[in-house]
Amino acid sequence: MVQNIDISVVVPLYNEEESLPELVAWIDRVAKSHGLAYEIIMVDDGSTDSSWSVVERLKCDYPAIRGISFMRNYGKSAALYCGFDMARGEVVITMDADLQDSPDEIPELRRMILEDGYDLVSGWKRKRYDPIGKRWPSKFFNFTARLMSGIKLHDFNCGLKAYRRKVVKSIEVYGEMHRYIPILAKHAGFKRIGEKVVEHHERKYGKSKFGLERMVKGYLDLISVSFMSHFGRSPMYIFGGLGTVMFLLGFIAVAWIIVEKFVSGHPLTNQPLFYLSLVAIVLGVQLFLSGFLGELINRRSVDRNSYQIDRDLDDMNN
Ligand code: UDP
Ligand code: MG
Repeated sequence: MVQNIDISVVVPLYNEEESLPELVAWIDRVAKSHGLAYEIIMVDDGSTDSSWSVVERLKCDYPAIRGISFMRNYGKSAALYCGFDMARGEVVITMDADLQDSPDEIPELRRMILEDGYDLVSGWKRKRYDPIGKRWPSKFFNFTARLMSGIKLHDFNCGLKAYRRKVVKSIEVYGEMHRYIPILAKHAGFKRIGEKVVEHHERKYGKSKFGLERMVKGYLDLISVSFMSHFGRSPMYIFGGLGTVMFLLGFIAVAWIIVEKFVSGHPLTNQPLFYLSLVAIVLGVQLFLSGFLGELINRRSVDRNSYQIDRDLDDMNN
């Protein structure tokens, strides 16, 4: 292990060449004035401007910078995931590269993790400097996310967040899941999730990388994330359960129609219920099989690393 690092600042960036020098100088200033040993992890998400050469140049003046550059644009979640993997600090902070988040918040966020005992502290841009077309959908998403996850946060998607190191090593941020990291963390067993009102600024350079499609993706991701946290470990409970109910309903209805045919002589095939029941039986079997397949796939991917260990008696001897 290199020297002890107090904070790792993970910065996902995509075409942010103008903002980077200011951002790095600001983080450096804040960290030094609080006596914090830090590293900045720049993850260049396939920028097509000169962002990466700016990062390389900055590295000469600020040796605390580390970084990787993707071959192509994989998305913010992928950038965060790789940044988390590299982070060595006791507390990990994520921050957007566009200067909308303020590095001045870092010391207080760190204090909340270390002293108040939070696993994750999420920023809340209470006064937000974004166009209205972005603020309203965001309110709706936060409301739905609160409802579905039971986590009382106002601003799930805030780029500025602080984590206890263990949290970032335990969660997998894929697809567009960066919006729902608190839900992933809660699902991994980290219950102490806090919130801090943070300052927000207007974008100074460049433009936003997320357009209208964020609403569709955000909505679908919310469904998958809540599905995964409820049934991800045991797909049979949902698919098998639904499948059995559908199969039984279809089966009972068909049996009833057949009995009726013998008793009262009604022909089978001119009753809509007959066809509906057949469909229910077929769908029921398919759902059941999906659950079964899900269980088989799950079983292959589960090993000891799938479970987060909180404490270990062996560690007491060291
Ligand atoms: N970003 C990224 N990959 C992408 C899109 C965005 O790494 O595909 C970065 C971007 O450079 C910025 C952060 O994610 O540092 C947030 O993006 P943006 O400011 O465009 O989002 P907004 O503030 O509009 O929600
Ligand atoms: Mg931004």
